[in-house]
Amino acid sequence: MSRVLGLVPRSANVFELFVGRDGLLYQAGDCALLIHTDGITSRPYSFSSHPDQEQLSFLFRRLENGFTAWLAQRKPGDEVGVGTPFTLFKPQGGPQEVWIATGTGIAPFVSLLRASRPCVPRELWYGVRSPQEAALQEELRLQEGKGLRLWFSRPDTGANPPHQPSGRLTEHLDQLPLEADLEYYLCGNGSMIRQTTEYLKHQGISPSRLHGEAFYG
Ligand SMILES: Cc1cc2nc3c(=O)[nH]c(=O)nc-3n(C[C@H](O)[C@H](O)[C@H](O)COP(=O)(O)OP(=O)(O)OC[C@H]3O[C@@H](n4cnc5c(N)ncnc54)[C@H](O)[C@@H]3O)c2cc1C
Repeated sequence: MSRVLGLVPRSANVFELFVGRDGLLYQAGDCALLIHTDGITSRPYSFSSHPDQEQLSFLFRRLENGFTAWLAQRKPGDEVGVGTPFTLFKPQGGPQEVWIATGTGIAPFVSLLRASRPCVPRELWYGVRSPQEAALQEELRLQEGKGLRLWFSRPDTGANPPHQPSGRLTEHLDQLPLEADLEYYLCGNGSMIRQTTEYLKHQGISPSRLHGEAFYG
């Protein structure tokens, strides 16, 4: 079991859990099971921390009655289990990569951007319901002018930045850069990943260049 160091609200119903690292080795893009103190219940989460950092962190949406309702009640000094890191999802950053996230699917990309020497992607697309739901917006704004595209599917719940058209991320796929040697990394909602993957394949992008990690759906 690892020690909880803190729980920080990052947007409406999204929290970042900080946990003692205890020498754990992992790579940006990895996930690990977070394990309940009952020793039975667990769910996978992407690291939002970078291995360059001293603490581990995980970004999660609090859902009613589930494991995340328990996670959202953790306090500093409480315990939570962290399983062995794993994933096949390995974005590296750099001008040959396009990152596309919805909701807490931003976590593995945030991890890479938190490296002591971050390697930014060609573009980072981030789809959420409203500006209030965009976790870590301030941190991500560092990418503004460097390819950050924010999409709000329900912008009526808050002011939309004037330079950003509203609508679901998947309504704007025709604005994605299309080049045969780009690698596309997609993370979050399964439906977004399926639609975007189909679109990119239809545009002639090789399936070997499409990498998805579905959190649900
Ligand atoms: C490889 C992998 C990595 C994951 N990494 C993360 C992560 O970094 N952050 C994270 O928040 N979740 C992540 N998830 C999802 C996570 O494991 C849980 O399923 C989620 O936190 C819901 O758990 P729960 O017990 O509270 O709700 P459950 O009762 O398990 O889920 C209730 C319903 O909520 C929906 N749902 C699940 N996850 C989300 C979500 N993130 N946003 C909106 N709706 C959702 C689904 O439709 C689900 O059926 C990941 C899943 C996988 C497979």
